[in-house]
Amino acid sequence: MYRAHAVILSTGSAYREIGLPDEKRLAGHGVSWCATCDGFFFRDQEIAVIGGGDSAMEEAIFLTKFASKVTVVHRRDTLRASKIMADRALAHPKIEFIWDSEVIGIAGEQKVTAMNPRNLKTGAEQEVPVTGMFVAIGNDPRTDLVKDVLTLTTEGTIAVEGRTSKTSIPGVFAAGDVIDSSYRQAITAAGSGCAAALDVEHYLADVEAATTANVLSVSN
Ligand code: NAP
Repeated sequence: MYRAHAVILSTGSAYREIGLPDEKRLAGHGVSWCATCDGFFFRDQEIAVIGGGDSAMEEAIFLTKFASKVTVVHRRDTLRASKIMADRALAHPKIEFIWDSEVIGIAGEQKVTAMNPRNLKTGAEQEVPVTGMFVAIGNDPRTDLVKDVLTLTTEGTIAVEGRTSKTSIPGVFAAGDVIDSSYRQAITAAGSGCAAALDVEHYLADVEAATTANVLSVSN
């Protein structure tokens, strides 16, 4: 057991995975969860993006800067993404869509060479040659440790007071992706960590001042 006067939780968030055995094996060898990190490696190549939300559309549109063609595979026939993002992706000449489909396989020994979408309505399977597959099906804040103790938001992040890092328990602070459902960038998380450090500093100063005041009133 570790004891502390204050704690900052910065457990981050985890990209959702499709759950295919080859997804993990080929992670970093064509399978990626971050277009801004890895998109550059796919210059003039044909790649896929999985998902139908804003993240998937943002990734797909960003990847058109590098790829010759981006195929979006979505499990339904309508996008979850906001209209503006959806319209932009649907109108993009480099982006194609495979609707009502889930990816059931990823091919490749050392690197991704193809993916296998299956149509959920007809059951038809196909093999689409791609060298990259970006999984953009959402993100889960890592709250397992505290989900039964602290208040969470409806989005699953740890609830904090306004723009501070103060959680529902005094002395417990949270920072980074675990409180952020919108930006989730290293630089925004770093800023949030700084805010938490300042909140803790003020909190500890208040605790110390209160303790000193108690000692003084007891000795008087
Ligand atoms: P999301 O909105 O939850 O979308 C996840 C997408 O992945 C959905 O289309 C979902 O399909 C699909 N999906 C989920 N699990 C799947 C699975 N196992 N296999 C296949 N597909 C699966 O997540 P998000 O796109 O990461 O967005 C999260 C929040 O951030 C949203 O509020 C979004 O608006 C926001 N965001 C905003 C921007 C922006 O405004 N620029 C950019 C990124 C994110 P279904 O549609 O069938 O459920």
